Amino acid sequence: MGTNILYIEDNPDNMMLVKRALEARGYTLVQAANGSEGVAAAESEEVDLILLDINLPDIDGYEVARRIRGSAKHALVYVPIIAVTANALKGDAEKALAAGCDVYMSKPINIRELWARVEAFVPSPQKPF
Ligand code: MN
Repeated sequence: MGTNILYIEDNPDNMMLVKRALEARGYTLVQAANGSEGVAAAESEEVDLILLDINLPDIDGYEVARRIRGSAKHALVYVPIIAVTANALKGDAEKALAAGCDVYMSKPINIRELWARVEAFVPSPQKPF
């Protein structure tokens, strides 16, 4: 099976950008447009990594991360979570890490940074390694 990446993001432009960038490297993108859908997708799909927007229309990304880490689905204790947010406020990175995220990326999304951060956890299916 392919390498599945779940992106929890309410902004369609960011979703499309990340979809194109990751599919170009051979990953399969699973999409969720809000926090509740994201938690549900993490529990129902086989996901190898999660990209998590922090500003979501229902529950925020911190709460999403806490619910994923607290899920009864054991694999979700370990699945890598990369927080992605426009909030440059001091303390956001620490809050994301405290909520269970592994690393933190700032918006606007830089494609090369995205590839590098994702590949640090899950090798690209289209690159030799
Ligand atoms: Mn958002």
